[in-house]
Amino acid sequence: MNKVPDINEDKMAADEVSPNKANLLGLSAAQLGDFFESAGEKRFRGTQVLKWIHQRGVIDFDQMTDLSRSLREKLHQIAEIRLPEVVRQDDAEDGVIKWLIETGSSGCIEMVYIPEGDRGTLCVSSQVGCALDCSFCATGKQGFNRDLTAAEVIGQMWIAVNTLGGFGAQSERRVTNTVMMGMGEPLLNFDNVVAAMSLMLDDNGYGLSKRRVTLSTAGMVPMLDRLADVIDVSLAVSLHAPNDELRDQLVPINKKYPIAMLLASANNYLEKLPDKRRKITIEYTLMDQVNDRPQHAKELADLLRDTPCKINLIPFNPFPNTEYRRVSNNSLYRFKEILINAGYTVTVRTTRGDDIAAACGQLAGAVNDRTRRGERYRDKALKSEKLLEKSTSSEEQLVRIIHA
Ligand code: SF4
Repeated sequence: MNKVPDINEDKMAADEVSPNKANLLGLSAAQLGDFFESAGEKRFRGTQVLKWIHQRGVIDFDQMTDLSRSLREKLHQIAEIRLPEVVRQDDAEDGVIKWLIETGSSGCIEMVYIPEGDRGTLCVSSQVGCALDCSFCATGKQGFNRDLTAAEVIGQMWIAVNTLGGFGAQSERRVTNTVMMGMGEPLLNFDNVVAAMSLMLDDNGYGLSKRRVTLSTAGMVPMLDRLADVIDVSLAVSLHAPNDELRDQLVPINKKYPIAMLLASANNYLEKLPDKRRKITIEYTLMDQVNDRPQHAKELADLLRDTPCKINLIPFNPFPNTEYRRVSNNSLYRFKEILINAGYTVTVRTTRGDDIAAACGQLAGAVNDRTRRGERYRDKALKSEKLLEKSTSSEEQLVRIIHA
């Protein structure tokens, strides 16, 4: 069934910028405090507005009844709460929901809700397309347009919660977990992703525990090295191969940041967290005759020996024109047994929502690939020292804001 939910008739497309108005949707508590202070108001107004938006789902200033009438009128003049626009919603037979979300002239992104028992996981996108071009991923094939804003990232959460029964309601369908595992490499959109995740964790926002907010990376080591300095969330590493030779083919960023470097960075991330019991999730997509042989499983078991981790095996989900095939059940079983016998906790990701192309690795959206920009971005990713230099000052700013 396809339908467009009635979220907010007044919402504007992402490109419809109001140059004189700040979009408050993607601002963290500290950033909202700064906004109100710079407008000559008390900082605590930021917390009030954050609660209205992210706890109660109210995006009309006139309904924020603990703000004075004069402040509400002032907010109308200087600010707005602008959601991304849902252009399509697909409901799968197994309860999975996929949304297609407009990002203005850059195209559309997708996000997916996966209910499972008393859990409801929202798979959130971070970029319009992806520059990393992993060979087995539908998103990578779409090219790249731009990073999502923090408002567009947290806006996905707002839309999902609103659609699933509303804010504050005891709905049977709830978002209990989020994974930054949709379209895009989240660490290449570091500041906006961190700001959005801080709202997911904020008790005045969505109030999710740090174990229930997961960032998944293909291996942007310089940004991963700094992640624990600004936020404490669960980490997933998209590994997909037990050696550099094979991973270079599947995940090209591996040529820049090979496996040893990536695992060292992931281990450093864990070591910086206060809770020493935390583990990394290793994501391993299994493709027939590519990375599913017993020797691959044994190599993987040896490789991860010093990394506190659990392993999530993902049977490859085919998409149009892909050269890869899904792993056979026999190979999957054998691979899993080898890892279990080596002492690992292993889960197998059930394929969900494949009747609406919402399964892992199938998200494609509708990216207006700006090839030259995509090429420049890819270069930027591969020359990440440069990117790091540029991002360091903003990361430091964010550290100050979060810890203020
Ligand atoms: S797997 Fe992730 S990092 Fe690789 S192309 Fe797809 S979205 Fe990008």
